[in-house]
Amino acid sequence: MDIHEYQAKEILARFGVPIPHGGLAYSPEQASYRCTEIGGSAWVVKAQIHAGGRGEAGGVKVCHSDRDVQDVANSMFGRRLVTKQSGPRGKLIYRVYVEEATDIARELYFCIMLDRRIERVCIIASAEGGVDIEELAATNPEALVRKTIDPAAGFLEFQAREIAFALGLEPALLAEASRIFRRAYRAFRDLDATMLEINPLAVTTKGSIVALDAKMSFDDNALFRHLDISELRDRSQEDARESHAADRGLAYVGLDGDIGCMINGAGLAMATMDMIKVAGGEPANFLDIGGGASPERVLKAFRAVLHDAKVKAMLINIFAGINRCDWVAEGIVAAFKELDVKIPVVVRLAGTHVDLGHQILRDSRLPIITADSLADAAHKAVAVVGTVGASA
Ligand code: ADP
Ligand code: MG
Repeated sequence: MDIHEYQAKEILARFGVPIPHGGLAYSPEQASYRCTEIGGSAWVVKAQIHAGGRGEAGGVKVCHSDRDVQDVANSMFGRRLVTKQSGPRGKLIYRVYVEEATDIARELYFCIMLDRRIERVCIIASAEGGVDIEELAATNPEALVRKTIDPAAGFLEFQAREIAFALGLEPALLAEASRIFRRAYRAFRDLDATMLEINPLAVTTKGSIVALDAKMSFDDNALFRHLDISELRDRSQEDARESHAADRGLAYVGLDGDIGCMINGAGLAMATMDMIKVAGGEPANFLDIGGGASPERVLKAFRAVLHDAKVKAMLINIFAGINRCDWVAEGIVAAFKELDVKIPVVVRLAGTHVDLGHQILRDSRLPIITADSLADAAHKAVAVVGTVGASA
């Protein structure tokens, strides 16, 4: 789960990481009022969306009067901001963050992330912050400092100091920078984050260090023990298909194709998506309905798949071990009765009670296309999508 910049900054501040004074606004009037509260003579209005790259896209603006802040905020509210990271549809702006403008001497990069390849938490930092880090990694990888955290030892003080040295900070700032790195790590660890990025971490002209931007993502599977964090969820920023499925306890990931998938087991789901591709099609989603799927659960999964208007055909692939094919078949029949299923549905059943499952499907006399194997199912789904496309 992702959160907004202002929320990440509040969290960092709680852990002792310095941030500029700022306040959230839901209206242009509120934004201009924040200037009085914050004080000073220059402010930055920042669109709050779940995507970076706002600066380049016009989502971060420096203002020199409260009137100016109000106008800029007014131009942002209700707009969809498209950035390099937002996807082509962009993300809706309905809150802005107003912050004191900081006089920046240097912009650094600091990030804590989970490196799944080496199964460790890693810290990546660079003296060249503020810029697109992917680009920097591609063009000038030597500019990145990288430290791996040993889970038993944690982020050690000497590692934090080594990062501070590598960033070329002046001696007076080394201790402060190391402290900030370790505090950020504590926030990451204590809250079960999967990513914490501060870009830029700024050195001000007055010689202090502040987090000017902050991004955090959390492990969905650990949210149950951080209720205060799960409350920060903002559905307006999420893929509508994914929030629909997540609310119903389904493991669903939205994709760009037109073959809706309903499969039990993550491994089988991945294999099925591969087979669809091999057969020349594109899956619309990943969906694992899990073991022991009741007819009700199958019905929920049907709804989640059909929630995506792009879906032109559906492929159901069940290998029943813990599951029972007759339950799944009952769920499919129930879905046809309850939902207005207008698209072709290909079903492949195997395993426990498979004969009973096929019997239920046959007895229903529904226009269900059955398949004997995974490959057969994928080919049939791709073929049938072709005919849907042709008649449309
Ligand atoms: P994004 O990463 O989405 O583009 P940032 O918060 O990093 O958004 O803002 C982009 C740039 O705007 C920063 O690199 C920094 O130069 C400038 N900036 C952001 N916040 C402030 C601030 N409070 N004071 C001065 N400059 C800022
Ligand atoms: Mg940034």
